[in-house]
Amino acid sequence: MTTSREVHLAARPKGEPKPSDFDLVEVDVGEPAEGELLVRNVVMSVDPYMRGRMNDVKSYVPPFQLGTVLDGGAAGEVVTSRAEEFETGDLVLHGLGWRELAVGPAKGFRKVAPHDRPSAYLGVLGMPGLTAYAGLFDVAGMKEGETVFVSGAAGAVGSLVGQLAKLRGGTVIGSAGSAEKVRWLTEELGFDAAFDYRAGPVAAQLRAAAPDGVHVYFDNVGGEHLEAALGSLLPFGRVACCGMISQYNNSEPQPGPRNLALIVGKRLRLQGFIVSDHNALLPEFHREVGPALADGRIRFHETVVDGIENAPAAFIGLLRGENIGKMVVRLAS
Ligand code: NDP
Repeated sequence: MTTSREVHLAARPKGEPKPSDFDLVEVDVGEPAEGELLVRNVVMSVDPYMRGRMNDVKSYVPPFQLGTVLDGGAAGEVVTSRAEEFETGDLVLHGLGWRELAVGPAKGFRKVAPHDRPSAYLGVLGMPGLTAYAGLFDVAGMKEGETVFVSGAAGAVGSLVGQLAKLRGGTVIGSAGSAEKVRWLTEELGFDAAFDYRAGPVAAQLRAAAPDGVHVYFDNVGGEHLEAALGSLLPFGRVACCGMISQYNNSEPQPGPRNLALIVGKRLRLQGFIVSDHNALLPEFHREVGPALADGRIRFHETVVDGIENAPAAFIGLLRGENIGKMVVRLAS
């Protein structure tokens, strides 16, 4: 028997998720059949979109089912391959989520180049990285010399948005939830300005940081941040609506920004997007971000939590802002 531990959804969270909403379960994964792989996970991703999947609501991704594993991004090493294209020791990415061992058809795994930090494939070189790139350039159409405001700026997506905008000659303002994060953004990542949204009203802090207004708002947060951004956007400004994390734990829908009428007078464009619709950008994303990472023009940071048993705590911590950069769960060093 080959046993593995995995995390199941035990109950649908009401408001903020709590540890009892999750179960750590031991299962027999069996042997891979012809055409399948057995993979030992090295690192797993916890991502904000997983909160939406915990509700029993139809969305662009189906809801998680109670009593089943939480699937999502992970990277691992092939232990046994019964598929021609893979060998023992290959580093692979997959979407089978929060488990120590994964067995499945080879088509569900993607081989990637060995990396001294495989977790980079779950962050700056992976889904959150492409989200930043696609949202900033494809959706918001950011141009050289423009001023960009990004919320959730010290997270996986936001920290790359700001750095990409700087690389393209922009002026960047970020908001984040602590003085430590604000310092990281301005002192380490080169943001032109940043503020702690918990320290005062967002609108006033944004006006002070960008007195001449902003051309682009990259929205990771929604709520008060979106209202403030609408107030500071210049005519013909664009908003990439990437996420609304301030609302993910709400049980009831919240009222929208009170100043939506500004969209008309300022001729603003707000566009939601889902990263998987932009997969065609992957080659150009890697061409731009790969070399910038290698020579230090782009930096990335991770908050690492060790052990599968701590995956629920890592996820709960992510929603509370306990991460700087990408939050990952490490299963092996
Ligand atoms: P992050 O690494 O940014 O982690 C989440 C962060 O959200 C926390 O660190 C916390 O930082 C912040 N946060 C939590 N609650 C609030 C709140 N009430 N108000 C303001 N900030 C809050 O996660 P990701 O980079 O992975 O994701 C960022 C956003 O992008 C999310 O909204 C996510 O859903 C979205 N997303 C969208 C995709 C798409 O295809 N559209 C794909 C991937 C992500 P702080 O301390 O600053 O509060």
